[in-house]
Amino acid sequence: MSETLENLSSETRQFPPPADLAAAANVTAEAYQEAADDRLAYWERQAERLSWTKPWDQVLDWSNPPFAKWFVGGELNVAYNCVDRHVEAGNGDRVAIHWEGEPGDTRTVTYAELLTSVSQAANTLTELGVVAGDRVAIYLPMIPEAAVAMLACARIGATHSVVFGGFSVEALSTRINDADAKVVITADGGYRRGKPSALKPTVDEAVARCASIEHVLVVRRTGQEVAWTDKDKWWHETVEQASPEHKAQPFEAEHPLFILYTSGTTGNPKGILHTTGGYLTQASYTHNAVFDLKPETDVYWCTADIGWVTGHSYIVYGPLSNGATQVMYEGTPDTPDRGRFWQIVDKYKVSILYTAPTLIRTMMKWGDDIPATYDLSSLRVLGSVGEPINPEAWMWYREHVGRERTPIVDTWWQTETGAVMISPLPGVTAAKPGSAMTALPGISADVVDDQAESVPNGGGGFLVLTEPWPSMLRTIWRDDKRFIDTYWSRFGAGAGNGDKWVYFAGDGAKKDEDGALWLLGRVDDVMLISGHNISTTEVESALVSHPAVAEAAVVGATDPTTGQAIVAFTIPRGNVVTEGEAGQELIKELRNHVAKTLGPIAKPRQIMLVTELPKTRSGKIMRRLLRDVAENRSLGDVTTLQDSAVMDLISSGMNSAK
Ligand code: ATP
Ligand code: MG
Repeated sequence: MSETLENLSSETRQFPPPADLAAAANVTAEAYQEAADDRLAYWERQAERLSWTKPWDQVLDWSNPPFAKWFVGGELNVAYNCVDRHVEAGNGDRVAIHWEGEPGDTRTVTYAELLTSVSQAANTLTELGVVAGDRVAIYLPMIPEAAVAMLACARIGATHSVVFGGFSVEALSTRINDADAKVVITADGGYRRGKPSALKPTVDEAVARCASIEHVLVVRRTGQEVAWTDKDKWWHETVEQASPEHKAQPFEAEHPLFILYTSGTTGNPKGILHTTGGYLTQASYTHNAVFDLKPETDVYWCTADIGWVTGHSYIVYGPLSNGATQVMYEGTPDTPDRGRFWQIVDKYKVSILYTAPTLIRTMMKWGDDIPATYDLSSLRVLGSVGEPINPEAWMWYREHVGRERTPIVDTWWQTETGAVMISPLPGVTAAKPGSAMTALPGISADVVDDQAESVPNGGGGFLVLTEPWPSMLRTIWRDDKRFIDTYWSRFGAGAGNGDKWVYFAGDGAKKDEDGALWLLGRVDDVMLISGHNISTTEVESALVSHPAVAEAAVVGATDPTTGQAIVAFTIPRGNVVTEGEAGQELIKELRNHVAKTLGPIAKPRQIMLVTELPKTRSGKIMRRLLRDVAENRSLGDVTTLQDSAVMDLISSGMNSAK
C-alpha cells in the first residue's frame, strides 16, 4: 500500500511583498540562483558575516556521513561575535535588550553593558573550575541573565544545556545527568501569572540526584526565600563582583556549543548537539534574511522561551550576532490582562514579531477587539514557528496584527536543524496562507514517497533534506546510533538506497501545483482512513476555517469499519454558545463543514467541544495523548505536558459523550 498523503485542500490566496519592503530587502530573488550555482561558495559568503580569528581550510567535510564538519580548520569565538565586535565597531551604546518583567519592571541592556556582564560571568565560571568542553546546565526564567549565562559559556568554550524553567525535578535531573553538567545556573524564581514562581526548590531536589554538579549559581530575581546549601553561590556576590575584563579565546568551528533536548511532542526528548561555526553562520544568516533585519532601526521581538531552540537561535545567537535591538519579556500573555503582548509591541514600537501558532490561535479565541485597541503600526514583518499555521490563523494574524500590510514568514525548522530551513523571504516571496513556501537559498529540501522518489507537484509524502547544512545537528549527545536510526535510516544511503545521504525530518508535507511546500504535521500523526493517508493538519485547518472555531486537534482512532476514524477536539471562539442543543447543532455543522471543505472521506466520526488542548511546554499540541484518550488507553509519557488537569477534563468529557 502506498503511504503517500492525500492532497485534500487547496489555497488560492496569495500575498506579494509590499513594494517598499521588497525594494530595500536584505535578500533578493537572485540569492536562490547564486546558491543553486554553487551552494558551498554561497555558505562561505554567509560565514563571512562573522569574525573568524582563523579562516577555514575546507567548507564542508562530508567524508564520513552522516557526521558533518563545516568550516574545517576555522576558529572563532561565539560570544565575541555576539557582543564584543559590536562594541568595537562603535555600537556599545545600542540597546541589545529591552527587558520587560511580568510585574512591569524594566531593564535596558546596551551592548557595552552586555559585554561587561558576559565577561564577568565568564570569569566567575572559570573561577568555579569550568573549562572548555565542560557542560553547564541553565535553568532560568526569561531574564537578561539567561542570555548572559549562555554567552558566558560560549565565551569559555563550555557547552550549555538550557532546560526550560517550568520543567519538573524529574525532567531537570535527567537532563543534568545525561550531560554530566558540572554547574547549574538558576534563580530564586521568576514571575508567572502575576506571582513569583519558585525555581530554586526544584534545583535543590534535582541536584540531590545529580552527583556531577559542583556549584549552583543563583540569580536573585524575586527575592523570595530560598534554602541554601554549600554548593550555592549568589550571582550578585560572584558574577557582579568579578572583573569585567575577559579576553575571548577562539575555538575550532566544530567545538560543541550546546546540547538542547527536543520538545518531546512525539516521545522521549533527544539531546541534540550543536557546534560553533556552522551553527552561528546559519543562525546569523537566517535571522538577517528571513526577518529582513535592519539593526539600526528595527526593534525585534521573539516571544519564545530561552529553553527552546527558537530562544537559542532567535533570541540569543541570531539577533545578537547581527547587532539587533530586541525585546525580552518574562511572563505570560494574559498578565495583567489579555492585551499584554500588544501593549508591549506598542510601548517598544516593535517592528518584527516572531511568535507561535498556539499564541495566534489563543488570541483568536480571546477576540479581535483586544489587538484592535492598540497601536500596532510599527510592525513590518511577522513570523510564525513551531507548528503548521492554519490558513485561517494566518489570515487572522495578517488582518488583526499586521493590519493587512505586513508579510508573514511561516518558518519551518527543528531543534535538529538549528536554524530556519523553509520559509518565505519577506521581500521576495508572494506567500500563501498556511504554506512555508520554499527552502531558503542554500538549503535543499524535497518531498518523497515511501520509495524515496521525489513526488511531483500536487503530491504528498515525507519531508526530507537532501544536502547537509551548516547548522545541522552533529549527533544526539552520546548516542550516535540513535542519531543514525532516527534521522538517516529511512531514506537514501543510510537505508541502503544509493549513495546519497538523506535526512528524514519526521514531518509529512505536500507540494502544491506551484511547488510550494505545505507542512502536514508529524508522520506519526498521519491518519489512515479507509486506505487513504490523511493529514491531521488539513482536517484541523478545515475546522479552524469555520468562524465558530479557534483551535482544533485531530487524531485517528482505531475503527472497526474504516481502520481508523477521525476524532476531533475543538475549541470554540470566545463568543460561541456550546451548551445543550446549540452544542449538538454546532458539532453537526462542523462535521458537515469538514466534509464539504475536504471531501466526505475527511468527515470526523466524532467531534468534542473542549476548552483546552494538551500541549507541550512550548505550546505544541500533543496528539499522542489525545489518541490515547480516543482509544481508551492509559496515557503515555506526560512529563513535557504543560497542564495535566487538561487531560482529566478531556478524558471525562470523552467518556460522558460515549
Ligand atoms: P520531539 O522531536 O521530541 O517530538 P518536537 O519535534 O516538537 O519534539 P522541536 O524541535 O521543538 O521538537 O519541533 C520541531 C517540529 O515542530 C518540526 O519537526 C515540525 O513538526 C514542527 N514545526 C516547527 N515549525 C513548523 C512550521 N513552520 N510549520 C509546520 N511545522 C512546524
Ligand atoms: Mg521533533
